[in-house]
Amino acid sequence: MVTLHNLGFPRIGRNRELKFSLESYWKGQSTREQLLHTGEQVRREGWATQSCLDRVPVGDFSFYDQVLDMSFTLGNLPARVKGQEGGSLDSYFRVARGRSVDLPADAPSLPRSQDSHNHHKTHDVQEVTCCHAVSAGEMTKWFDTNYHYIVPEFDARTQFSLDATRLLEQIDQARESGVTHPKPVIIGPVTYLSLGKSKDGCDKLALLDQLVPVYAQLLESLADRGVEWVQVDEPILVTELDSRWQHAFKTAYHGLKGSRVKLLLTTYFGQLGENQYLAAHLPVAGLHVDVATSRADLVPLLNLLPTHKVLSLGVISGRNIWKADLNGVLDWLEPLADRLGDRLWIAPSCSLLHVPVDLDSETSLDPEIRSWLAFAVQKLDELGVLGTALTNGRDAVRESLDANRHAIESRRNSTRVHNPRVRSAVSSVTPGMGQRQHGYARRAVLQAGWLDLPKYPATTIGSFPQTTNIRRMRKAYRTGELDRVGYESAIRGEIQRAIREQEKLGLDVLVHGEAERNDMVEYFGEQLTGYAFTTHGWVQSYGSRCVKPPILYGDVSRPHPMTIDWIQYAQSLTDRPVKGMLTGPVTILNWSFVRDDQPRRETCRQIALAIRQEVLELEAAGIRIIQIDEAALREGLPLRRSQWDAYLQWAVECFRLAANGVQDQTQIHTHMCYSEFNDIIVAIANMDADVITIETSRSDMELLDAFDQFDYPNEIGPGVYDIHSPNVPSTSQMVRLMQEAARRIPSHRLWINPDCGLKTRRWEEVLPALRNMVNAARELRASE
Ligand code: GLN
Ligand code: ZN
Repeated sequence: MVTLHNLGFPRIGRNRELKFSLESYWKGQSTREQLLHTGEQVRREGWATQSCLDRVPVGDFSFYDQVLDMSFTLGNLPARVKGQEGGSLDSYFRVARGRSVDLPADAPSLPRSQDSHNHHKTHDVQEVTCCHAVSAGEMTKWFDTNYHYIVPEFDARTQFSLDATRLLEQIDQARESGVTHPKPVIIGPVTYLSLGKSKDGCDKLALLDQLVPVYAQLLESLADRGVEWVQVDEPILVTELDSRWQHAFKTAYHGLKGSRVKLLLTTYFGQLGENQYLAAHLPVAGLHVDVATSRADLVPLLNLLPTHKVLSLGVISGRNIWKADLNGVLDWLEPLADRLGDRLWIAPSCSLLHVPVDLDSETSLDPEIRSWLAFAVQKLDELGVLGTALTNGRDAVRESLDANRHAIESRRNSTRVHNPRVRSAVSSVTPGMGQRQHGYARRAVLQAGWLDLPKYPATTIGSFPQTTNIRRMRKAYRTGELDRVGYESAIRGEIQRAIREQEKLGLDVLVHGEAERNDMVEYFGEQLTGYAFTTHGWVQSYGSRCVKPPILYGDVSRPHPMTIDWIQYAQSLTDRPVKGMLTGPVTILNWSFVRDDQPRRETCRQIALAIRQEVLELEAAGIRIIQIDEAALREGLPLRRSQWDAYLQWAVECFRLAANGVQDQTQIHTHMCYSEFNDIIVAIANMDADVITIETSRSDMELLDAFDQFDYPNEIGPGVYDIHSPNVPSTSQMVRLMQEAARRIPSHRLWINPDCGLKTRRWEEVLPALRNMVNAARELRASE
């Protein structure tokens, strides 16, 4: 008989209870007991929802991050938090956030923005040195998802020691809540090491011999608690491993072979590929693989896997929000079930952390679109249907299967999904459409003549502070309290303020400030066809932060202009050039739930054509500079390096399609808010934007080395003002950074600007910082 299980359940709570409880605890508005209580409730609710499963995950809950939890379980805390006062929860939040509670009112204020994409990968605080705060652990993306984990830190003196309390307590709680077969979830030793960072250059793998005995001890404690199966997550098995890391897998799992619990070696987010043999032959009791997006691993594994091992198949995608085609899955799964018998387990492909909790909360979604979707709760229902069909035959779940077939067919044939005009527009794209008329050198001359900018032109990245007033207005407009005329005039007021302030500051290229935008992706999605929006579809991004990715369900087109009026209005208020401000196609794609019925590049091309129309209309409306943000271009990189080129090729092609239809004298900017360019610099140069603004202030301009070594030919605005920090940078600091930059990039190709948009900051912080920045530009000009 097939075993049903799950790899992890969303933990932020159906109504984001954990988020609110955390934030209230951090502000000192509620007690530790209240927070612990919320945590327990969220766990119990998750277990209740999963009661239909044969084995239920435990330990997948987290107050902040599951990797940080593992660091605590292994006793691997950075030295800087050891010996601080407070309980272990306080140390935990110190590593997570740089402090355990929020600072008193007289301490530097910290950005507390609403959930948004704006600072997708950075902390809400970098470093705070007062009030027993310590620097937060570094945060980075969890494989190719939009979840971020706290990077474990290692050095030559790292010692591990077991603290299994969290897991043991949760196992007891799960049992009390009626879970008969709790299946603890842990991150495996090899993935744990590979995700961490060596602080002193020590060899991480040298720690393995020390680490394995602690894992062995952990497994023993779990065995003592009566646990039968443990889910050991080793997702790095779907990435390319060199021979040392492959060997580490053998060492680690041979070291754990004597354990009294059974291990389910768990992989997800892709195919095992060349690691199939390794994964199949490690001495564990079972192997979980992701077969939701591709079944490429399946046939080889069936032959490779020793016959005593369980094979767990991730048959339902844990990454998207689409209903699975249950009849289609059964067609290939039934023969396998016959062949494997009790050895077959089924589950979602990965933890359901990456999807929203419950579709039933979505009462205002269009019913047709809604009928195509499944969130975490619905995905478990799907699993249940598959399980019953495999055990008792399809007739036992005929109704559900018929309803599912109906939904799949309705989506496949819907005219809302397929728009022949979009199809034909995409198929008539020619390479010439992504090509500027002339190379940068010639364009630069034309642009300089027209724009008449000084050296080191000073600009910003787009958004100005999103004040409470702006947010209130937007909400009032949404709920109908404020009519369109009232709303538009209020936004005009904000634009006017932004333009006046920028003129007073003496910036050279102005922006309208983005007051009308809730989020840089949602704003465009709302105006394009093919997009749907949820009201409760929150997914954890990191800690208490959540994002609500829009759902791209159909062919994308642009029925009307999206930004022209605002930008034109802004330009009418000043003689200085105002930048048109758009989000790029790759970023729109990467921050949405996307279609699974066509390749991502196809969807991206459609978005690119829509943005292209907007670009050309901005140009026709007299806008001389257009910025197209590609904040998330890097995020789309595939896990396997061997697939990078293919991705970068279509991603860059889509950007070019969106941007490069303009005349030579129109200046195209792009912005990317990260600081790793070494490995993608060729692609960046291929985008051929006239100006790129990037995040650099914290790397002391070293990242410009990549641009320098590559002889990057176009203009660059290295961010000199770290907008993630409340600190106001001084003029001299920024002058120094620009001088560093000028050692690498000829100064006539340098711009001066902040790291990213200013929407999460307050005007009181922004004005002095920009004043200093403009002064820095003036000093630099004077000194030459
Ligand atoms: N133009 C956007 C802004 O300023 C860019 C945001 C981003 O890069 N994440 O807010
Ligand atoms: Zn940015």
